[in-house]
Formats: sequence, structure tokens, C-alpha cells
Amino acid sequence: MPRAGRGAGDSGRGAVQAMLRALPSVDLLIGSLAGDAALRGVPRPRLAAAVREVLAAERRRLLDAGGAAADGDTLGRQVTARLTAGGLFSLAPVINATGVVLHTNLGRALLSPLAQERLREVAAAYTNLEMDLSRKERGSRYAHVDGLLRRLSGGEAALVVNNCASAVLLALESLTRGKEVIVSRGELIEIGGEFRIPDIMRRSGAILREIGTTNRTHLKDYANAIGPETGLILKVHTSNYRVVGFTAAVASRELAELGRARGIPVMEDLGSGCFVDLTRYGFPYEPTVPEVVASGVDLVSFSGDKLLGGPQAGILVGRAELVERLARNPLNRALRIDKFTVAALEATLYAYEAGTALETIPTLRMLTEPIASIRRRARRILARVAAETQRALGAHIVESRSQVGGGALPTVELPTAAVALGTPGRPAERLDEALRSGRPPVLGRLLDDHLLLDCRTILTSDVAALATRLSTL
Ligand SMILES: *Cc1c(COP(=O)(O)O)cnc(C)c1O
Repeated sequence: MPRAGRGAGDSGRGAVQAMLRALPSVDLLIGSLAGDAALRGVPRPRLAAAVREVLAAERRRLLDAGGAAADGDTLGRQVTARLTAGGLFSLAPVINATGVVLHTNLGRALLSPLAQERLREVAAAYTNLEMDLSRKERGSRYAHVDGLLRRLSGGEAALVVNNCASAVLLALESLTRGKEVIVSRGELIEIGGEFRIPDIMRRSGAILREIGTTNRTHLKDYANAIGPETGLILKVHTSNYRVVGFTAAVASRELAELGRARGIPVMEDLGSGCFVDLTRYGFPYEPTVPEVVASGVDLVSFSGDKLLGGPQAGILVGRAELVERLARNPLNRALRIDKFTVAALEATLYAYEAGTALETIPTLRMLTEPIASIRRRARRILARVAAETQRALGAHIVESRSQVGGGALPTVELPTAAVALGTPGRPAERLDEALRSGRPPVLGRLLDDHLLLDCRTILTSDVAALATRLSTL
């Protein structure tokens, strides 16, 4: 029997045309959905676009495969499904069960309750963002965090820009346009999203002067490279990788001394700057921001939303004369932070000064949470899932390793507990897909034949929702 589609005879084509004509009109379908409670809040243009998409798909199906046209109710259900699958807003919370604490693709650091409160407070009100109230004169938006950053870091002055990449760009553009920047070959890193330090440097107009080798760079390499064209010595923290074995790098203190002796400023891009020493919690030694400042380097840059645990920002601290040159650069205006960044950063830094950072800043709390406490959360999740469902999903608790992420401490693996899922009948890949597509989306980590839901990064407030997602898989 001939198919009623392309290539069918005249009578077949006529039947398809009749079917196409039988499809409801855009207006009719919109009208039939207007009162649908599931679509409350969906703006009319979005509804109209979804209706057109569903009708176009149905037309294609009829032309390709023939058969009977779907009725208005069926098409209406397709429109509703399309519009409600992801919720009203594109940017939405997800449950991070990857175990990566600073996950750049999941928005990096979570803000402390205090920072959240401050954001809400300044969102709906006029603020003294750039108003010196005592003099009724224009003030500086950086003044709100300047004192905190100076006291915490020991630097003479501070400046905050959009992110650490722009901090590096601003520093190089301000200090080294048309001059040479001396940097070790072993520190020419790619920081993710295919952004490379050498590219940022070239964009700034600086001339890159690579020294040393991939694994070893010595003080004399720096000293020999200094000439009349030298504008800056730059040390870059190799945040997201490690060269191990036969290696040598020059300490910040030695570079600072060399720079001072030869009249060349020295900058250190720390990337993931931190104000607390995490060695107590089993982490390898990493110099803190105040330690790097104390080493004598002139300028230090680091991110707001990596180990610091605050909002996205690029923070610069160091010698007042240099920081002022950066602040006066017109490029700084293009990289400036908004009141939300100021508010969240002030609250985050306040916690460091008040000594409450480890308890209140989610990044630090997650990184230092004892394994026993993570295991308890794993048990609490399973306790909310029926034994029968657990068996069907092959759910059980396993010990695993989580990562810091965000290009920080790349070799550190933190012991953790995870809920493992997957059986021959319910393969892990399929469960992973299902968990990612529902609401709230859950992102886990596939390892061998299992999907691991790492409980280090699962929030206490996620436990109930996660258990519901597991129960309805
Ligand atoms: C992460 C990182 C950056 C970029 O920081 P963003 O805040 O993401 O722009 C720059 N330098 C180093 C060494 C880094 O680790």
C-alpha cells in the first residue's frame, strides 16, 4: 500500500493536504491553552512561538510519514510539555552532586547567608555606592571593600574588577603597554574556556618575554632577561596543573628582591587567592594572599569566586602607587563591578575579618567538612527512598574522592561519600540522563558502571528534593 507522503500518488498528496488543512490554526491553539493553569506566567510571545514550533513539527511529520493529524488536545499537550519542561527561567538552581566544590560551569562559589542577605538589601534600595555621605560628594565604589582588603591582605591599596582575567589584563595594560613582561615558560597557562594567559598578555599590548623552560626557571633567567624594555616581572600561579619531578621555580620573595634591586615592578597572579591556611585540614601548603603580599611583590591578583568563596570578581592588592595607576586607567571603567558584587564581596570579606569564614562561607565549609558528616548526609538521602526503589536503582553508599575545582589545588583529592546508582537493568548513563533532564536537574559523576552522587557538594537543603527525584526515577 502506497504511503501517503512524499512520492505518493495524486490521491495520497490530496489526503496529506487535507490533513494539513485539518490542523488547528495558531490562534485556535493559543486560545485553547489560554486558561491552562500549568502555563500560568508564560508570556504570550513565548506561548505563540511554542505553538508554531509544535505545529511546524506536526506538519513535517505528516509530510514525511503521513497518517492522521494529531488533534488539538494532543498538540496542546505537546505545547504545554515544551513550555513547562525547564521552568519559566533559563538560569535555575541545579543539585551539584559532582563533588567538584568550585565548578565553573555550575557557577563556582555559593554565597554565604550574610552575603545573600546583603544582596537582597541593596537590590531594592538606593545605596551610597558612590556617594560620600558626610561630604555630599561623589565617593568611590571600591571604598566599601578597600579597608577590609587592606587589613586582610596587608597591601597598601586595593582595587576590584569584573574577574581575575580582567585584573591581569588591566594590570598589564596599565603598566606594560609596549613594554616587555618577563614570565616563566612553565607559567604560561590556559585557565579554562580556552583562555590563555599569553593571549591575554598580547591583548594588553604587552610584549611577552618567555624565560626558562617548561619544568625549570631560575632567578638568573629573570635577571638576564631584564633590559631597558622591561615593564614588569609576572609570576603566574599554575593553579590548574602541576609539573612534578625535576622542577624549579623562583620564590615570590626572591623575585621581589630582584625587582626592587633593578627598579622593575613584580606582579603575582594567584588565581585562587585564599586568606586562610588550609593545611590544618589536610591540604597541601599554598601561600595565602597576606603571605604573598608580605613576600614583597608589588601587585597580587586573585579571583573573588574561587577559594575566597565570594562573588565573581578580580581583586588586586599591592603598592598604592601601582594600584592607583590601574584605577585611573580608562579600561578600569569598562571592567567595573556593580553594587551586587560590592555587597556580596563586603559580606564575604567581613566573615574573614570576623573569624567566621570557615563556618559561614559554603566553599570553605564544603572543603573542610569531615567525612563522617558527609556520610551522614548520604544516609539521610537514602533513608528517604523506599527500600524497593533503592534495590531497583542499585542504590548504595560508597567511599570516593572529590575535587576542589575552579583551577585550584588540582592534585588534591578529598575523601568523600557518595550514593552510587546503576544496575544492568537501570544503566548508570540512562539514570544520569534522566536526573539531568528533570527538575531540579541533578548532576552526578559517572565512574565505571555507576553514577556517583557525591554528597560533599549536595546541600542539606537539597536532600529532600534529591530523594524525591530518586524516588520518581
Ligand atoms: C582562574 C584563574 C584566572 C582567571 O580568574 P577568573 O576570575 O576566572 O577570571 C587567572 N589566573 C589564574 C592563575 C587563575 O587560576
